[in-house]
Amino acid sequence: MKHLLRLLALSLAMILLTSAAFAYPPGFLVYNGDRGEKRIAITVDDCYDADVLRMMHEMCVEYDFPITWFVLGTQIRDEDKELWEAIIAHGSEIGNHTWKHPYLTRIKIHNARNQILLTQERIDELLGYHYPLRLLRPPFGYYKEGNVNLLDMFYEYGIERTVMWDVSYTDPQQAFDATENGSILLFHTNYEDLECLKVLIPMLLEEGYELVTVSDLLGMDPPEIGGEKYVFPYR
Ligand SMILES: [Zn+2]
Repeated sequence: MKHLLRLLALSLAMILLTSAAFAYPPGFLVYNGDRGEKRIAITVDDCYDADVLRMMHEMCVEYDFPITWFVLGTQIRDEDKELWEAIIAHGSEIGNHTWKHPYLTRIKIHNARNQILLTQERIDELLGYHYPLRLLRPPFGYYKEGNVNLLDMFYEYGIERTVMWDVSYTDPQQAFDATENGSILLFHTNYEDLECLKVLIPMLLEEGYELVTVSDLLGMDPPEIGGEKYVFPYR
């Protein structure tokens, strides 16, 4: 009996240990930043259209604010290398939006993992150095469905924040009205959103909002870039 109890205690400890090893920390899933400060973050997903990507970046330069780009690995094109370098030099930030935009909750977990890691490898390959993609925006905002919850897995594979949003409108007035302190605004690289941002950005600046990266909004240090390129180990 004593032996059995000890075995039980040991098994329980093992379960706790293994589950605690990669349990995501508090604040890992975010919809917004501090509601007490007049700071917000503009995020743009997908990066399907390189022309729109360029024009949105030019807006960043014109109005002197950063965008946090959630890029798909498949949309990181060699011919855009200089553009991505300019984006980083400007102070914008790059986050992970997976390799090719699946519902992560509906594929096998190792495939979901690969969706994240392959994108990390691709950005490093393009830039020629390590740029840690610390922020993840799951496609369609799906990280949890039924019994599946991927937050621990994201954390296990180097993601530091899973970034959702609290404002998503393509009409500038609606977006403006929905924005409050700490908001994270969601846009995509398409012409409709470009036109929206052209009107919205001056409105937000006029209102006194400081536009910052998601990392900055969440009080994280800027990403430490440089160092050895990440190589995907599961081929
Ligand atoms: Zn997307």
